[in-house]
Amino acid sequence: MYWQKEIETMDRSTLAGLQLQRLNESLRQAGRSAFYGGSLGAAASKGLSDLKEIARLPFTTKDDLRNAFPYGFLTVDLEEVIRLHSSSGTTGNPTVVFHTARDIDEWGNLIARCMYTTGVRKQDVFQNMMGYGLFTGGLGFHYGAEKLGVMTIPIGPGNSKRQIWFLKHLKATVVHILPSYALRLYSFFEEMEVDPRKDLHLRIAFIGAEPHSEEIRRKIEELYGIKVYNSYGLSEMCGPGVAFECERQAGLHLWEDHFYPEIIDPASGEVVPEGEQGELVLTTLTRQAMPLIRYRTRDLTRFLPGECPCGRTHRRIDRITGRSDDMLIINGVNIFPIQIEKTLMAIPEIGHNYLIEIHKENFMDKLSVKVEINEEVFHGTLAELEKLQGKAVTALRAELGVTPVVKLAEPSSLPVTEGKAQRVFDYRHREEGSR
Ligand code: AMP
Ligand code: ZN
Repeated sequence: MYWQKEIETMDRSTLAGLQLQRLNESLRQAGRSAFYGGSLGAAASKGLSDLKEIARLPFTTKDDLRNAFPYGFLTVDLEEVIRLHSSSGTTGNPTVVFHTARDIDEWGNLIARCMYTTGVRKQDVFQNMMGYGLFTGGLGFHYGAEKLGVMTIPIGPGNSKRQIWFLKHLKATVVHILPSYALRLYSFFEEMEVDPRKDLHLRIAFIGAEPHSEEIRRKIEELYGIKVYNSYGLSEMCGPGVAFECERQAGLHLWEDHFYPEIIDPASGEVVPEGEQGELVLTTLTRQAMPLIRYRTRDLTRFLPGECPCGRTHRRIDRITGRSDDMLIINGVNIFPIQIEKTLMAIPEIGHNYLIEIHKENFMDKLSVKVEINEEVFHGTLAELEKLQGKAVTALRAELGVTPVVKLAEPSSLPVTEGKAQRVFDYRHREEGSR
């Protein structure tokens, strides 16, 4: 059940010792980059004597990565570098991340650990529907699955009919897929007369790379008749493989032999009391080409209390509820898009996709939610549609404290993106001051 039993079940004090030793190596290594240079002071030359002392060191931000583009964070000679990945994002310099051969190997091991944890074995057939290329989702899982000895189909995303054909004929048992794409793919099954619950051999899906609610996970599990596990990571750390759900599906084990986590108040930068929600800050403990110290992920989560019954000792974080920079302020009320998703997905008549739009009208913010309905309701009466609309407004008002306009849309009619789903469109800046 464990890929690396000794590490995964290591007692907490031995793990802390390992972390301190690795943290000091990381600090020394980071000091070799142009960005960190001498700024880490004695921490880089002499090391820290206690993990908690890390709180004295400055944070590293995404802007730092952008400003130091392209090579400011590199700590090794180019001849040692074998790979570059880049984070998604459409404005400014991209954030590029370098890997040595050892970095790639450690990353593969992490992914193998994650997959093994959920019961993936050599005899499985793995269809990897994440993008291959600069994005880490495709290649990251690819190398991990190969390390595990699993036959991997590097199909990438899109071309839904071909995906289904492969799933069916190659008898794929495991997939890695964006949650938004898992829902979209489902709509192609009927047309192809394939029943995902009966005609496939699928048993496991890994979903991640974009925020999604527990309701979306359960929906995918139900539609496909499989187990779905949450996979979290970011290119700056390596990619997927930073935190992962074990077979218990009760929070994500953050792999503390490779990353040192802190949760801070995004406004003050102070570490929050244990168990409280805040922004995840990560320090790499084993990365060679590009160690990062106290990197602000912007992702919001909390540490879950207690021990996991699976026996792994690495701390668990809760699913990511949003990013500190994607909070919407609607007429002074703070709202996270995931609250809207969670509320909509709990209504059975609602379909799989939705969009959030915010406009300025008479100097006030106006929140609109466009949401697809399911086939059955679509063929129902007007009165039924109006009732559903009212139900959605009431549920959203109760969750958000703001009354949105709800517009119902035909199944599969809302626009979709090839990569990570983009569901929030904020037009307020464009309309500032307009009436
Ligand atoms: P990228 O570096 O482009 O792969 O993007 C990483 C970001 O994707 C993270 O910082 C998160 O905001 C988001 N992300 C990745 N995995 C998850 C997940 N399982 N749940 C929610 N958000 C995720
Ligand atoms: Zn566990």
